Amino acid sequence: MSADERAQMVEWQLRRRGIGDERVLAAMGRVPRELFVPPQVRDAAYADAALPIGVEQTISQPYMVALIGEQLALQGGERVLDVGTGSGYQAAVLAELAAEVHTIERIPELADLARANLAAAGYGDRVRLHVGDGTLGAPESAPFAAIAVAAAALEAPPALYDQLELRGRLVVPVGGSGGQWLEVVVRTPEGPAVLRTVPCRFVPLVAGR
Ligand code: SAH
Repeated sequence: MSADERAQMVEWQLRRRGIGDERVLAAMGRVPRELFVPPQVRDAAYADAALPIGVEQTISQPYMVALIGEQLALQGGERVLDVGTGSGYQAAVLAELAAEVHTIERIPELADLARANLAAAGYGDRVRLHVGDGTLGAPESAPFAAIAVAAAALEAPPALYDQLELRGRLVVPVGGSGGQWLEVVVRTPEGPAVLRTVPCRFVPLVAGR
């Protein structure tokens, strides 16, 4: 049953691997991941892996979604931006962690898929979905306390840094075919403070539409 599988995922894939933020663990325990994966891979919804969602894109591995959530250090009252909506799963997790979630996807058919998934899972009213180039952020809704990017860039997109509040955090996979690192970029009065955290592998962030 999904609820049992979800509880197992939280314990074995997340807590025992070092995710310690109780709000993140609770959020991952609430969002029904099975509603964000295609029917043909539903049996694998709680597997320790990324899964295909069509058009060569993937729903991220649960651990990566949780790690990004933890690195954003959310308290609950924030406005956040999720770049690369894909299935909508990360956006749903962020909706459990923050007050206002904007998400942006460049592929219209995935945006439609995410809209349907989010509605089915009960997050339709809690996530604002935009279609467009997420490397440009969502300037009309900025600034954000936190920005999560689910696709790898050669460098942290400057527009996203510009849309952070002071002390705001941007979590973004950075790197090319030689390998990627998950970077945390904090906006400070002196400029970006960059922390390289773990090696990772995400689909490429594609600028433009
Ligand atoms: N967070 C997603 C993971 C999706 S994979 C989930 O939980 O399912 C990354 C997504 O980023 C893909 O859907 C891809 O189409 C999208 N993407 C890539 N470049 C983008 C860009 N410049 N702007 C917005 N979305 C982008």
